[in-house]
Amino acid sequence: MEEGKACPICFEPMQGPEATPYGHVLCGECLRQWLSRSDKCPTCKNDVKKDNMVSVREAIHCLMAEHGAGTGPAGSELEELG
Ligand SMILES: [Zn+2]
Ligand SMILES: [Zn+2]
Repeated sequence: MEEGKACPICFEPMQGPEATPYGHVLCGECLRQWLSRSDKCPTCKNDVKKDNMVSVREAIHCLMAEHGAGTGPAGSELEELG
């Protein structure tokens, strides 16, 4: 059983995870560095437009719900994510 997914860029447990518009999660810092030299998702290579990143929090919440209980109240978990 995994305690947490490894970041596909630094291969360490993700710090401050953020998601691309395609639901692929990586460290927020890794994502910013990646997007500074690429405009494609590091995981699936689909185009990532900066404008799309506004939906990051929703994508993360969906992923957390998948891995978690799935029926928890929305909101409290997001605060912990920062
Ligand atoms: Zn990383
Ligand atoms: Zn992707």
